[in-house]
Amino acid sequence: MKAAIYYSQQDIRIEEMPVPEIGEDEVLVEMKACGICGSDLMDWYLKNRAPLVLGHEPAGIIVKAGSKVKEFNVGDNVFAHHHVACLTCHYCIHGDYTLCEQFHKTHIDPGGLAEYFRVPAPNLQIDTLRIPKTFSFEEATLIEPVGCCIRALKKSNIQVGNTVAVIGAGTTGIIHVALSKIFEAAKTIVSDLIDHRLQMARKFGADIIVDPENEDLEAIVKAETDGVGADLVVVTAPSIEAYKTGLSICRKGGKLCVFAPTRPGKYLRISPKELFFSEIQIIPSYSTSHLETRTALELIKSGKLKVKELITHRFTLADVAKAFKTALENRESLKVIVLNK
Ligand SMILES: [Zn+2]
Ligand SMILES: [Zn+2]
Repeated sequence: MKAAIYYSQQDIRIEEMPVPEIGEDEVLVEMKACGICGSDLMDWYLKNRAPLVLGHEPAGIIVKAGSKVKEFNVGDNVFAHHHVACLTCHYCIHGDYTLCEQFHKTHIDPGGLAEYFRVPAPNLQIDTLRIPKTFSFEEATLIEPVGCCIRALKKSNIQVGNTVAVIGAGTTGIIHVALSKIFEAAKTIVSDLIDHRLQMARKFGADIIVDPENEDLEAIVKAETDGVGADLVVVTAPSIEAYKTGLSICRKGGKLCVFAPTRPGKYLRISPKELFFSEIQIIPSYSTSHLETRTALELIKSGKLKVKELITHRFTLADVAKAFKTALENRESLKVIVLNK
């Protein structure tokens, strides 16, 4: 079969490799669509693990099932989560599923950017979701990113009536806006440097859009909140500047959600004195567990969350290098997906 092998951001090759063999409690999935995620574009995060097959937002059809597989059948359309928690360790019993050791060790084999992938038993049992035939594979690629956003908003304890500010209107920034509306935020404010993204955020329910290069975000947030600041600020842009801005627009006692990692060696200066008196809570949220992927599927299925419009570019597996280049360089791009036809 063909698979996309990542050697570096500039060097992604299509190579032949054997179709994975499955065990009796595993399945083989023919990939139909797979999203490219912001984390797939973080060279510093990937280069020590290269060469590898990326792709953790896949959907496809089960083409082979082991003899002991009961819950799924050949022909089922599925989303398979690349990471699954053990559900029994110290982290898991405290609900910190994404910090579980098994979570980091598990992955689909060889990855989503291949013609076929094997779903190991734990991934199959805990976080493989059957998707209805009415549901497109393209939409199913958004289950994982939507799950990440649901987890972040839940960890941040979003409340009915909140004012939510989102910094960065990329795919996940826009999903945060749409979800904030579903969670009944009273007002959402989004900032981004790219107008096309802001217009898209508006389409997904943003009440106020701000281009911080030409407008004063802090003043706008203050004006919109009677001088108080946002109840919740979600930072989806991986820069220290974005985090500084986030702190400046967060109200006292509010929450700053750390959703995008910055490059290693970058630090945000925080004064414990200021933090103490402001009682701002800093809440990081990494990845998604099996709980939020299910909620994500339900929200998309119900039509409450229309994710399809977030897909701006589609490429075939053979053109995966172009897909990465587009995701990295095209300022108009939101979700870039790879199709296996
Ligand atoms: Zn992702
Ligand atoms: Zn665990």
